[in-house]
Amino acid sequence: MTDRRTELAWNLAAVEERIAAACAAAGRAREEVTLIVVTKTYPASDVRILHELGVRHVAENRDQDAAPKAAACTDLSLHWHFVGQLQTNKVRSVASYADVVQSIDRLKLVSALSAAAVRAERELGCLIQVALDAESGQQGARGGVAPDGIEELAAAVAGSPGLRLDGLMTVAPLAGPYAGRQQAVFERLMEFSSGLRAAHPAANMVSAGMSADLEQAVAAGATHVRVGTAVLGVRPRLG
Ligand SMILES: *Cc1c(COP(=O)(O)O)cnc(C)c1O
Repeated sequence: MTDRRTELAWNLAAVEERIAAACAAAGRAREEVTLIVVTKTYPASDVRILHELGVRHVAENRDQDAAPKAAACTDLSLHWHFVGQLQTNKVRSVASYADVVQSIDRLKLVSALSAAAVRAERELGCLIQVALDAESGQQGARGGVAPDGIEELAAAVAGSPGLRLDGLMTVAPLAGPYAGRQQAVFERLMEFSSGLRAAHPAANMVSAGMSADLEQAVAAGATHVRVGTAVLGVRPRLG
């Protein structure tokens, strides 16, 4: 356990340094960027260590793993972000522990989450997940709505009890015209964010960037980066 703590502390410090350097390079204040540590596939004991080390935002992508982990950590002051593709039969569970759902990509999910949040007497922050590899009316390979669907979803979230529209999220596509062009992806997301904020000024969260590309995300203007591997190590299985 002591070894794991040392390892996580070391990794976290390295990621912190990267974020600070990226902020400095972009002329941004360090406080403008929030680190979310993606703890998927790693145990609750790691979440506990991360909390001791000062982490306050964690993310998970599967309800089956996240629900017991969150339950094992209710004594900790943590914000739980849900970042995975979400089936409507899982929303009741997710609404019981998540503070923010970053993967809103269809109207059915909005109505289901709203009902679940009201029932749980909780307010859920929501990010619209934008897929730059999606054609109009379709979803991206890694989830997300095509850009021309943002407005409709945003209006639905803003008008739904129990939900709060917080902003936008994206995962850089692995295929299509934007593959390998993280900077372009994140800059495009910022343009969509400007459009969104014109109608919903409070929805100013922009979640972008992972272990491999957090610098590009910070340069583009991301407010939240989601970092897994660089803090916890290479995942034992795909997740
Ligand atoms: C796993 C995951 C991350 C973190 O990816 P790393 O490359 O491990 O930093 C970020 N966002 C989402 C949506 C993820 O599923």
